[in-house]
Order: sequence, then structure tokens, then C-alpha cells
Amino acid sequence: MTVIRQADFIESIADALQYISYYHPLDYVKAVEDAYNREQNPAAKDAMAQILINSRMSAEGRRPICQDTGIVTCFVKVGMDVKWDNTALTVQEMVDEGTRQAYLNSDNPLRASIVADPAGARKNTKDNTPSVVHIDLVAGDKIEVMIAAKGGGSENKSKMAMLNPSDDIVEWIKKTVPTMGAGWCPPGMLGIGIGGTAEKAAVMAKESLMDPVDMPALMEKGAETTDEQLRIDIYNAVNDLGIGAQGLGGLTTVVDIKIKSCPTHAASKPVVLIPNCAATRHAHFFLDGSGPANLQPPKLEDWPKVTWELGENVRRVNIDNCTKADIADWKAGETVLLSGKILTGRDAAHKRIKDMLDRGEGLPEGVDFTNRFIYYVGPVDAVGDEVVGPAGPTTATRMDKFTDMMLEQTGLIGMIGKSERGPATVDSIAKQKAVYLMAVGGAAYLVSKAIKKSRVVAFEDLGMEAIYEFEVEDMPVSVAVDSTGNNVHETGPAIWRGKIADAKKAK
Ligand code: SF4
Repeated sequence: MTVIRQADFIESIADALQYISYYHPLDYVKAVEDAYNREQNPAAKDAMAQILINSRMSAEGRRPICQDTGIVTCFVKVGMDVKWDNTALTVQEMVDEGTRQAYLNSDNPLRASIVADPAGARKNTKDNTPSVVHIDLVAGDKIEVMIAAKGGGSENKSKMAMLNPSDDIVEWIKKTVPTMGAGWCPPGMLGIGIGGTAEKAAVMAKESLMDPVDMPALMEKGAETTDEQLRIDIYNAVNDLGIGAQGLGGLTTVVDIKIKSCPTHAASKPVVLIPNCAATRHAHFFLDGSGPANLQPPKLEDWPKVTWELGENVRRVNIDNCTKADIADWKAGETVLLSGKILTGRDAAHKRIKDMLDRGEGLPEGVDFTNRFIYYVGPVDAVGDEVVGPAGPTTATRMDKFTDMMLEQTGLIGMIGKSERGPATVDSIAKQKAVYLMAVGGAAYLVSKAIKKSRVVAFEDLGMEAIYEFEVEDMPVSVAVDSTGNNVHETGPAIWRGKIADAKKAK
């Protein structure tokens, strides 16, 4: 019988969460590098360059890959021949303690994103607990742990269907993936659970994402099982959609498809799809009683030496003196480097602004959006001499419901976020002659280097959701919706879907 010390388990969880906050799995880095080398759409190639550069910078600086440092999801397989040295804490409590230690680590504090009372007050628990823990009792005398920090943007795009037994899973995926937009920050992976019951399929989908990227090896070897054939078919079908990196259109939307399946009821075919984003983060370790897990740091030479060249037609703008007349000729797809002051705000700040405007109170003191841009972001706290921690964009689509209000009532002229806007919001942007700019989701540490000053201007009690004023220098964004309503998230995938289909026909 193996004796596992609870202290070793907790230390291993804390270390693994710190490790995955700044080290991408190298299999994912290699897969994005290959996709980058293959990509023909310059905008998508650019986005992948930023993701790869950000990945290397995070590994070097040991700071989070993304400002959303995720909800901790942990699979713990406990051998039946394992004994704990004491029973002070349950497995859930031990994972939570490791999570607490990792997220409050003063050398690399991670953003606490978990809110209690989700249907009500949604109050931040401040230490990113509780984690989501799946425990299995298995044969053997070891403990196996697979742990991930799952971003909200990609988790929000999860889909479930109770298909009819004769329904085609590939067809369902082809229909479903375009409805997910780009808020899951592709290129990534899709985890798919098939069979069992509704909840079993969801857990299998999540667990499948813990496996390394091995699609090239599978393609070379050829499918030997139904699930392997499905993985290849879905991989090809999804990439043929032309969605591309960040939804800008291109050759690679997914770098792998993972499937776990199990027997199901004769009347059922449950399918759950969970995407993993550009901040793919997971670690895998065993405990055998000899001490805490020892995750070896990867070598920096293993990261590709990608450089990011600004094209000749980049527009440099001082946004402190910008008006609607100035943004009128910014074109969808164009790269813009912003310098000057921007305000931030995301879900909670928008909700509070709405409540204040509805009550006739006006904007909070010190906040004036006239001719300003708002950046949808919830940054990580700064450490050392940082101005701000990683500060990448959050999903703009969630702010769609507030956009009319912001454009009509506050004088705002531009928004910066990630992923697409809904059709009604695109219409509002065109009607108000405003613009929507896109930063690369999953390139948060890189983006934070363009922020030269930061101060909280309102709603300090909201923590990372407060309104900040950032002073930025050459912050790279691209015009996603221009002032006439041209929308790259619509045009990009359509163009690349057509090009991919034409290339296949020509073969
Ligand atoms: S890469 Fe995108 S979806 Fe993933 S954690 Fe970061 S912002 Fe969220």
C-alpha cells in the first residue's frame, strides 16, 4: 500500500497550476507553429505570430499566457491501494488548497475569476476556488492527476446535443461550429464526448482535452477505429469551414480533435463538444508516495523563433485627438497601432453603467467616454515593475447588449475586444459611425507590454472588472468592423471557405 502525504498532493497541485499559467504544452506550440507556416491568410498568420511570440514571452517571464487564468478543472484517479497520511482534507479540499496557493502566489499572482452565487450576486471568491474536481477510484497504488485551467471564453462555447441514433455527428459539428463564433480563440482543439448519458458525455469531452496534440501522427498512421476515423473526418470538416485563427478566415481553425466515447442507451446518441482555446493549459502527473510531482521546465529553444513584421500599410494613430471624422476612413482588416489613453470596462462595469444611466445618475465621477475607446479587459494584477499584468481582450459579443447604450448615450466612438459582434451590433456601429477593433485573444502578455500607464478611475470594488485608464503606445489592433459596417468576421471566413473548396476541387 502506498502512502501519499496530503501536503505533497497540495504542493503538486499548486506547482502544476503555476507551471501551466506560463508554459504552453509544447505539442500545442508545435501545432500552432506548423499552422503558422502553412497559413496563407496574412491576418490569420499575424494572429498566430502574436500567439507564438506571447507564448515564448510568457515562458521567459513566467507570467500568464492569458489574462483569463481560468477555472481549475482537475481529474484525480486514486489507486485502490493508496492510503493518505491523514484524512484532514477531502480530495476536493486539497485541490482547492493547491488552487488557492497557486492563484495567490505573490511572484506570479493569477487572476481570480470564480464567482459564488452564479445566479444571484456573483461575488468573486478572491482565490479562484472552488475548483471543479472529478474523482475516480481505479486499480493500482498511485494517484494520477490531470489538471487544466480552462478559459471562460472557450468554455462558454460548449455545445450539447442528444442526437437521434441515425444522426450524423460530423454534420452536427459542421452545423454547430460556425455558431460558436470566435470567442473560443481559435486555433485550438475540440474535445468531443460521445455516448453514455448527457453528463457523462460532457465529462468525457472535457477529459479528452487533456491528451496531447497527435493529429499529424494519426493522419500518417491512418484510422484503426471508428473514433479515430471520426477525429480525422471532423478535423477536415472543421478546417474546411475556413473560420481560421481568431475567426479571421484561414486554413487552420483546429489543430486537433479529441474524442472519448462509451456505450449508451439504444435510443440515445449524446454528443458534447467543448473547445480548447489559444490558452490551452494542462499538466499531467503521478504521485507514488516518493514526494511531490516534479514538473520539468521546457527548454526555451523549443519555441519557434517567429518574428512579427508590421506591414507597410499600418496606420499609427494618436487616439487622444480622435473624432468620428478621423475613424471614418479606417478599413475593415487594416492594422492600427494605437497610442494614447483608453478606458477599460467589461461585463460588471457595463451593467453598473447601465443601472446608473437608467436611474438618471449619469456616468461615475471621472469617467468621460466622449470620443474615447473602451477596451474590454480584466487584467491580471501587476508584479514587480510591471504597469499591469497580462491584459488581453475579452469576448466582445458579451457586451453587445450594452453597445447601443454606450454609443448613443456616452459619446464613445470605438471598442476593442476579441471575437465577432452580433448583426444588430454591427448595424449600430455603422449607424453611429463608430468602429470595433480586435486584439488577439491569447496574446495577453504581449499586449500588456504596450500599456505604459494604468490607473483605476471608477468601480474599484469590482477588482479586475473596474474601469481603468490605460495609456498605451503602439498597441496593435485590427479593424474588425469599420464605420460603414464591413465586418471581417463575416467576410474572412466566407472568402477562405471558398478558397479551400476551390483548392480541393482543383486537386
Ligand atoms: S485564449 Fe481566449 S478563450 Fe482562452 S482563456 Fe484567453 S481569452 Fe479566454
